[in-house]
Parts: sequence; C-alpha cells; structure tokens
Amino acid sequence: MAERTQAASTAINGRTYEYVDHNFDVIVVGAGGAGLRATLGMAEQGLKTACVTKVFPTRSHTVAAQGGIAASLQNMTPDCWQWHMYDTVKGSDWLGDTDAMEYLAREAPKAVYELEHYGVPFSRTEDGKIYQRPFGGHMQNYGDGPPVQRTCAAADRTGHAILHTLYGQSLRHNAEFFIEYFALDLIMSDDGQCQGIIAWNLDDGTIHRFNAKMVVLATGGYGRAFFSATSAHTCTGDGGGMVARAGLALQDMEFVQFHPTGIYGSGCLITEGARGEGGYLVNSEGERFMERYAPSAKDLASRDVVSRCMTMEIREGRGVGKNKDHIFLHLDHLDPDLLAERLPGISESAKIFAGVDVTKAPIPVLPTVHYNMGGIPTNYWGEALNPTKDDPNAVVPGLMAVGEAGCASVHGANRLGSNSLIDLVVFGRASAIRAGEVIDREAPIPTPNEAACDKIMARFDDLRHANGATPTAELRLKMQKTMQEDAAVFRTQESLEQGCERMAEIWGEQKDIKVSDRSMIWNSDLVETLELGNLMANAITTVVGAEARKESRGAHAREDYKDGPLGGRNDDEWRKHTISHVDEEGKVSLSYRPVVLDPLTTFEEGGIDMKKIAPKARVY
Ligand SMILES: Cc1cc2nc3c(=O)[nH]c(=O)nc-3n(C[C@H](O)[C@H](O)[C@H](O)COP(=O)(O)OP(=O)(O)OC[C@H]3O[C@@H](n4cnc5c(N)ncnc54)[C@H](O)[C@@H]3O)c2cc1C
Repeated sequence: MAERTQAASTAINGRTYEYVDHNFDVIVVGAGGAGLRATLGMAEQGLKTACVTKVFPTRSHTVAAQGGIAASLQNMTPDCWQWHMYDTVKGSDWLGDTDAMEYLAREAPKAVYELEHYGVPFSRTEDGKIYQRPFGGHMQNYGDGPPVQRTCAAADRTGHAILHTLYGQSLRHNAEFFIEYFALDLIMSDDGQCQGIIAWNLDDGTIHRFNAKMVVLATGGYGRAFFSATSAHTCTGDGGGMVARAGLALQDMEFVQFHPTGIYGSGCLITEGARGEGGYLVNSEGERFMERYAPSAKDLASRDVVSRCMTMEIREGRGVGKNKDHIFLHLDHLDPDLLAERLPGISESAKIFAGVDVTKAPIPVLPTVHYNMGGIPTNYWGEALNPTKDDPNAVVPGLMAVGEAGCASVHGANRLGSNSLIDLVVFGRASAIRAGEVIDREAPIPTPNEAACDKIMARFDDLRHANGATPTAELRLKMQKTMQEDAAVFRTQESLEQGCERMAEIWGEQKDIKVSDRSMIWNSDLVETLELGNLMANAITTVVGAEARKESRGAHAREDYKDGPLGGRNDDEWRKHTISHVDEEGKVSLSYRPVVLDPLTTFEEGGIDMKKIAPKARVY
C-alpha cells in the first residue's frame, strides 16, 4: 500500500475537504497504452510508481485501436527504419521534429519485440512471424513505392491486445493503480516545478494528493471537442486542460486529423486496415475516385489527403445516399474467410452501426475527427517543455507527457496510421528510461504547495456548486458543433474567424454553467463539467492557432492557401510549431518554436541521408 501521511485539509466556502496524501517517486496519469508503458517501465526499474486513471485501465481509448502498430520488421516486404522515418517526415508535412522522428523509427522494432515478449498475441504469418499489413502513407524506397507491409497487427483488435498485456505486466511489477480517480490539476511549486496532482476518488468522494518527483501525463486526446469523433467519450483532453491552467504551453493544436472512414451517422471507426486488406472507396457514379487524386498510393494515400478527396467528391455532387452526403467503402469483393480472419471487429461494427453485411454490401462512411497531432510539447524523452524565446527547448522540472496528450513532435501536421500505437510504446518507454536517469532516488518527495492546492480545490468547489442556467451538456454541444463547423476538413479565414469569435463567447458562457448534482460520489454531472473545462482549453487553442496559421499543411487545409508548388504550404514562414497559452478568461496568446531540424545521428554515424528528407511537395 501507499505510504499515507496524516490527512491535511482545506476549507473552501465553509466546506472542508480532507486530503489523503500519498508519496511516490512517479505518478502516471492515464492507463492507456502510453500510460501503461510508462508505468511498467518506471516500476521495472524499482521506482515507486502509481498510475491514476479515471476509467478502468483496459477501458482506455487505446482498447479501440484496430489496425495495428508500425515498425520496420521486414517480415513480409523489404523495409528499414530509414524508410519508416522518411514516411513519417513526409506524413508530418515537414513539421515533425527530426530527432524525435528518428528516435521513433529506430526504436520501433525494439518496442514491438518487447511487446511480443510481454505476451501480445500478434497475428502470425505462415512461418510464425508477426503479421504486418499495408497502411496509408507507408511505402518502400523513400516514398517511391510499392506500399510496404509495416503495420503489425493482432487481427483488428491490436490496441485491445496491447492494453491487456501491458496492464498485466504492470501489475506483475507491483505498480499501484488508483482506478476511477479523476485527476483535477497539477500541483506546481512557486518556482515552476511540478510536485504532484490532486485527484478525486469518484467512488467514495475522497480527495487525494499524490506527491511525486515526476508526474507523467498520459491522458489521451481531445476528440470530443468535436461533434463527430471516433474517440471515446472520455477523450476530453484533461492533460491539456491541466497544463493550460498551470500556465504552461500547448503546441500545434490546430492540427486535427479526420479519419476518412467513420461510419456515417455514428462516427464509429472502420480501420484503415480495411483498405490495407484491399477495400476501396467509391462515389455515386461507382468510380474509384482515389485513383484520380493519388495515382500511386490510391486508397492508401495519407489520411488527410483521402479525407479531403472524399469531401471534394461530396461537394461536387458525387456523394452517395439520399442526401448525397457520404461515400461507400467496399469490402464485399474480398474473400469472406479473409474478412472473418483479419477484420472480424469491423465486420461486427458495420453490422451494428450501419446494418451492413460487409460480405454483401458497401459500408457508408464519412471523414470523422480521429486524432490530435497537437498537445503538450515535449522532447523525445517525453519531458514537458516550457519554450521561451531564449530557450525554445526548456524543460518543466517534474513533468512529462506521453501518448496522444503529448506532442514530441513525431506526427507534425498529420499522423500516419499505425504511428500512434508505436508512439505510445516508444515514448512511454523513453519517459521511463529518462526518469530513471533524472530522478534522485535519495531526495525527499516534495511537500505540496498549499496555496496551489487551495486554488485547485476552490475551482473544484465552485464548479460543484455552480448554479447558473446552462446545463453542461448544452454548452458542450454548442462547443462541439462550432468546432465541427468552423475548424473542419477544409478551413477558410472566414470560418476560422467565426470559430474564434464563437469559441470566445462559449468560453464566457462557462460562467453560467449549471451543475445539478452536489454529491461527491459518482457525480457524473460534475465529472462532465470538469471535462468540459478541459475540452474548452483544447478547443479554443485549436481554433485560434488555426486562424493564425496562414498556410495549408497536413491536416490544416485552408482553401485560401492552396496554390503554389507546395500546395499552399509555406516553409519560409510557417515551418515552425505553434505555442499557445490560454488564461482564465479564455484569451489565447500565441508564439512560435523552431522545428528541430537536426537528426540524432549524422549519415556518417549511420543516420539517415538528410538529402532524402529535404522538404518537397507532399504527393502520394
Ligand atoms: C477508434 C480508434 C482506433 C484507432 N486505431 C489506431 C490504430 O490502429 N493504430 C494506431 O497507431 N493508432 C490508432 N488510434 C489512435 C490511438 O489509438 C490513440 O492515439 C491512442 O490509443 C491514445 O493512447 P493514450 O495512451 O495516449 O490515451 P488513451 O488510450 O486515450 O488513455 C487515456 C487515459 O487517461 C486517463 N485519463 C484521462 N483524463 C484523466 C483524468 N482527468 N484523471 C485520471 N485519468 C485520466 C484515462 O482514464 C485513460 O486511462 C485509434 C484511435 C481510435 C479512436
């Protein structure tokens, strides 16, 4: 059990909140793939580690990942880490940090073999090797093609397999889990060091202070800032919210990925692996239109490209269905045995959410918000950054961020399919390696900054007793619809300006929020209100960052910037990371941080030939 000190308390508005104090070397917030890989790595080294999570670990959104995890194992086609790195650089539309992308591509095979040894039940080839499928944007020969089979899969339930395995392994190494505890905020010292977190035990209503030498935020993405998203309802960007309230930076928030194939209506995901296994998209004329837009990669072009092509087909009147507002994905030409073996999960989803038997009819699909490239800026060790003019790579002592919550940045302006799962394990692992180096095991655990704790609890108490006129669900819907309309697949100056104005207004309306349940036990009304506050910080920085970025790059596609040799991308002015801070009134201030251009190793030392990854137009 955790060491517990004498309970302290604070009084807010005449109400007393008692603290249960816990002391750990490391607190990981989040038990998705990133949080569990970090937890496991910390615990393996004998660091006293706790993992705090608002949902049961194996219910984290990672469980829904279908298609697979990228690593250049060469089990099915020739491959090498340099090709993987090239594809990642190109996928990022030259916004990713070169050192981090090299680290990802190089470490990927090691991280996957580790998963195999931990017990992940990967699908197998005839000769017993890990099965790998093609995925969008992953090619042989520095993008020249043909497609490479790089995405390691456990049927179409890869995230499920990884999450269960990592949870079991973490328990085996005696990491302590605090399950269904909602992290409220970071405890920051007056001189800017992170000293722990305060969390609320949803089950019995107690308040806990987790004091630690290192906090790792692994809280996942913020897909739920949008109306239609493939992500779970729990993906509310809580880490980003906490960081913003601590006065720290968010990075590249304007880059939001739409997945081409969300099921029309529900938004439920059909993995890109479906196209990897031979599925293709058609318009109302029965045309395989991707052949026209991306002659070489076709249906396996990068996600932002496919999403835009689908949107253009629909706009030009070639959508399918009664309202001509979606596209068909065909799998019915594929062998039913192959579908049953490789894509059983999505066959089931199509049946449940679209009423379609995939062996007989196409699935109705539409681009749907899927992934957040932006997040808490970090270096490739997962250490959170607080970029300043003098030092764009300054580290926040005591704080790390990994997984979708973080921004290392390996995905830059657009993430390739199957590059997130590998990001989770590579950087989850890296954060543990780094923590092992920087944590002084002899040093005392910091005592919490009482003034900071009071402030956190005052905000909590205010929201718990919020007595305005606007129910949380109503304001959330307003935010989601605004984001969906104004910060969508295609963007214009007008839509983005409107988005900024509307989001500023919506931010202000938080003052009028109404929470009807005042209890401390399983108060889902209050949980959703706290989550809404977090979503707001993510949403407003997304739309403000997008308005300011006067170019098209990756997932940020502006109709007013689409000409020129690079298709609207402007490397001279905009090959830089957006850094945003948001204050209590919702005012966002932007600054910029240079992209890391230097690799970890030179060509002479065995690194990539830098000429290969020099910026050029991104064509598939
Ligand atoms: C449907 C779907 C399919 C996907 N398929 C693939 C794929 O095939 N390949 C691929 O590479 N990527 C895929 N992705 C992307 C990838 O799965 C995600 O980016 C990744 O799983 C995110 O993992 P994570 O560990 O960062 O966060 P998550 O798995 O989202 O976990 C977040 C954790 O944080 C905890 N948490 C959050 N807030 C709090 C709080 N306030 N207090 C306490 N705990 C908190 C939650 O309890 C949870 O444990 C897919 C995504 C979706 C939505």
